[in-house]
Amino acid sequence: MLTCPNPSCRKRLPALTRVCSYCQADLSLLVDYVDNLQGAVGRAEELTREGKLAEAVWAYLEVLEVDPANAPARKQVSQVAAAVRNFDRAAASRRLIDPSRDSGPPGLLTAWLPLLGVLLVAALAFWAGYQWGCSSN
Ligand SMILES: [Zn+2]
Repeated sequence: MLTCPNPSCRKRLPALTRVCSYCQADLSLLVDYVDNLQGAVGRAEELTREGKLAEAVWAYLEVLEVDPANAPARKQVSQVAAAVRNFDRAAASRRLIDPSRDSGPPGLLTAWLPLLGVLLVAALAFWAGYQWGCSSN
């Protein structure tokens, strides 16, 4: 619920109108501010639904820049921050368990696999040649 920004009024506004119903102060700046904020939150929610999460996070951050207490934007950004923190922790623990996993020499099987394939093709070629030679006699 908004209150009238006029220091001599400060009454709670029953609705978002361009003129205060008590002191007749011009509230058009306040109305435009609230409209823009709600539009920005709506755009961020739409980006989230479309799966454009990076753009959505930026949109929510823009909302928080204007209104740091905005509950939906704070919730969404804190969820993303928590997910990034969990990912960082998981990546760090994976590096501690197996330091060679991220950047190290390939395993024995992956190193010998191409050579094994070449040997298999060569063996098949010899076998096919032998069969062809036997059948032509
Ligand atoms: Zn007023």
